[in-house]
Amino acid sequence: MEQTMPESRDAKLTPHFKLSEFLQAGDPMPPPWVLDNFYRLANRLQVVRDLIRRPLKITSAYRTPSHNADVGGHKKSLHLSGMAVDVVVSGLPPKELQLILVNWTGGMGLYETHTHLDIRPYRARWRG
Ligand SMILES: [Zn+2]
Repeated sequence: MEQTMPESRDAKLTPHFKLSEFLQAGDPMPPPWVLDNFYRLANRLQVVRDLIRRPLKITSAYRTPSHNADVGGHKKSLHLSGMAVDVVVSGLPPKELQLILVNWTGGMGLYETHTHLDIRPYRARWRG
């Protein structure tokens, strides 16, 4: 479904997620197909937010190709299409979050310091 394109970075994609949380400061506004993925991803994250009742801090979301290269991201990283985030939850270690999200549909990367979540159309798990 077509979403109205947000006019500002403060626009709310869902009750708890703002567009700016998916962008790096200084990045240009991404193309509409990326914004569309932000909406889909934010809606999935909102479900998690409602479940755990704590803020999800997004430490990495959309990456431009040069940003992705800088952080050593995979060439086909879903961060490049706005379909992935890395998150941390204060007071909830990644291992506990990952247990809560055992049924997450899509990709979940298990890391010591954060959890990678993406909305690929199939289930995938890996350890960083
Ligand atoms: Zn990631």
